[in-house]
Amino acid sequence: MVNIAEKGAKQAEFLRQAFEQNKLAHSYLFVDANEVQALNTAYWLACLFNCTGKNKPDGSCQNCRQIISGNHPDVLLVEPEGKQSLGIDQVRLLKEELAKSPVQSNVRFFFINEAQKLTLSAANALLNLLEEPVAPVVTILITNNTDQILPTIRSRTQIINFTTNEAINSKTEELLANGFSPNDVNDLGDTSKLEQKTKYFYQEMLESSSLALVSAHQLAEMAKSKNEQKYIFFLLKKWAQTELMNGKQQDGARMLRDLLELDKMQYSNVSLRNLLDYLALQWKR
Ligand SMILES: [Zn+2]
Repeated sequence: MVNIAEKGAKQAEFLRQAFEQNKLAHSYLFVDANEVQALNTAYWLACLFNCTGKNKPDGSCQNCRQIISGNHPDVLLVEPEGKQSLGIDQVRLLKEELAKSPVQSNVRFFFINEAQKLTLSAANALLNLLEEPVAPVVTILITNNTDQILPTIRSRTQIINFTTNEAINSKTEELLANGFSPNDVNDLGDTSKLEQKTKYFYQEMLESSSLALVSAHQLAEMAKSKNEQKYIFFLLKKWAQTELMNGKQQDGARMLRDLLELDKMQYSNVSLRNLLDYLALQWKR
């Protein structure tokens, strides 16, 4: 499955048990400092539920592939695309969707990413949905900040925490083991935004989406220091290696080859923006 690293295994195992005992909650609040692991786990859960393979979720049956590529009619993601808030319009859309019966599955899955950006009116509209779901549904709100979630919403969801001190420490160790000095790690500070943007860029590349070019530009804007640039390439390589381990040899090998190419180009002082553009264009073909 997509990037379910060991760090998330505990939460995923908990959800698997709930699923196997037919005890999945109607609504969850996933709390994750960088939102990446939580969102991956949300997709993982939808795959688990819908997988037709033997080792669920296999990530390769028709259902899993539809879910991972964002094309499953019963698995929907709502997020504040480029906006600062998730407004009432998006929740209204969700409301309409929620009233519909599942198309292919028995249950529909709704993921609301960056739920801390829900406006007050949107949060209140959502509250009704959580209280009286019209059709069978599992709603997963994902946030990096529980304090910004209305208490009334919090109390109606089952909270699953992905942020642990362990995770923070192991991230530092991982960076130290990959050529970052303690000073580098300090300078980097909170990398959650950078990591999230890089993740989008990476996924868009794999999907050969034109959006990858937009994300490339945004990333180049965000990553001003050499350290941050180094961090982006570290993440891309790490994820490419994960593809290899998860049986997606073709994508993984191709990505690693392209990234090695970029390593060479970096020595000729090509700007980050041009490097990322080059990468995105390689994948757009
Ligand atoms: Zn499957």
